[in-house]
Amino acid sequence: MSDPNRKARIVLAGAGHCHAEVLRRSKLFTSRGHSVTVISPDLDHVYSGMAPGLLAGSWSRRDASLPVAELARRGGVEFIQDRVTGLDPAGKAIRCRDHSPIRYDVLSVNLGSETTLPASSETRMWPSKPVRSLVDAAARLESLLRERTSGADPVEVAVVGGGFSGIELAANAASFLGDRGVVTIYTRALAPSLTDHPPCMRYVRRALDRLGIRVREGVRVDPTTLVADVVLVATGITPPAVLREFNVPLAPDGALPVDRFLRVSGEEDVFAVGDCATFLPVPLPRVGVFAVRQQPVLIHNLLARAEALREAGGLENNDTVSSLTGHQASHSDHGLISFQATGPYLRGMNLGPRRGLLFRGRWVLTGAPAWHLKALIDRGFIRRYR
Ligand SMILES: Cc1cc2nc3c(=O)[nH]c(=O)nc-3n(C[C@H](O)[C@H](O)[C@H](O)COP(=O)(O)OP(=O)(O)OC[C@H]3O[C@@H](n4cnc5c(N)ncnc54)[C@H](O)[C@@H]3O)c2cc1C
Repeated sequence: MSDPNRKARIVLAGAGHCHAEVLRRSKLFTSRGHSVTVISPDLDHVYSGMAPGLLAGSWSRRDASLPVAELARRGGVEFIQDRVTGLDPAGKAIRCRDHSPIRYDVLSVNLGSETTLPASSETRMWPSKPVRSLVDAAARLESLLRERTSGADPVEVAVVGGGFSGIELAANAASFLGDRGVVTIYTRALAPSLTDHPPCMRYVRRALDRLGIRVREGVRVDPTTLVADVVLVATGITPPAVLREFNVPLAPDGALPVDRFLRVSGEEDVFAVGDCATFLPVPLPRVGVFAVRQQPVLIHNLLARAEALREAGGLENNDTVSSLTGHQASHSDHGLISFQATGPYLRGMNLGPRRGLLFRGRWVLTGAPAWHLKALIDRGFIRRYR
């Protein structure tokens, strides 16, 4: 039996790439009578594609952030400034650090990933993830440069990890400091994912060399032992530790396991997207591109699930939801659509102002054109939300 007065409460845990789009398109939900609540510790979301450029001063925090609280306000979404601390799936409630437990009918989790710092980490240490920490690292570099008046006392930066993030952070810090800084990368291997792309690898090595960055390869270091003013830790990412408080079985990598509908295994009303989810049908790289590709599927499925809760059985609404989101679902899928993780994607590196690398398959673009094209794509993404 359909009850037009029964509306669903949709709760968004975290305001990452996917949820920013749910906020932008929240009228799809609110116009059908559903309510949307988002929980985020911050009023803005620093966009990782532009975060390395914060270190070089290429852009301000505002330029590189999605205004999630503002998007919520504009879309009639309740914004709760808080940190998620756990989940009670049986009671259908999400726990927060300060707020009392928040009840949901349909929940979506978009909490990103973290870089683990050593247990005895110090204030001179910043992780690459969450990228928000790079806002503070950039401010620290600026203040160190102001304090050190003489070039004889250079600002020393150590970057631990030589993957894409570590290289981007090192190149942008070195560009900012110029000859008043010394930047060293400590890594077991430099850009391992570029070994199959010799031209890209050659370009990256040349760029690091031109910036005067020292690369210590074949080493495994304890960041706490490094002598440096600033230590940037880019040793890879793990799903957020808070997921261990979610009272649901996790994937072996510690993330929330999701099926082809982006639904958490065994939980009909809980979805998870982006870095905090492990897509069970095929392994997905943990890059923002996939979080963005999941946006339309998440939106459709949240709406389909909310409508299904309003309608007994829920299948009658397939046509309505499809006409609103533009995606067709088959009745056997209970109105949900599958995420198709297909296709190669454009990969890129910001190697400091007007120095970049973009490649997709065998296609490669380097130097200023690559930097400008990446900046154009990234700024376009931010503009959608402003
Ligand atoms: C330096 C760097 C550069 C990168 N550049 C690129 C790039 O150019 N292109 C690309 O495709 N990928 C890039 N990546 C990878 C990219 O950052 C991730 O894959 C992407 O951010 C995943 O998006 P997400 O929405 O899952 O998570 P995130 O973007 O991390 O968003 C998660 C959100 O959850 C919030 N959150 C976290 N914990 C809590 C909590 N307990 N309660 C409430 N909210 C919480 C955070 O504040 C954040 O807003 C880069 C990564 C790094 C480290």
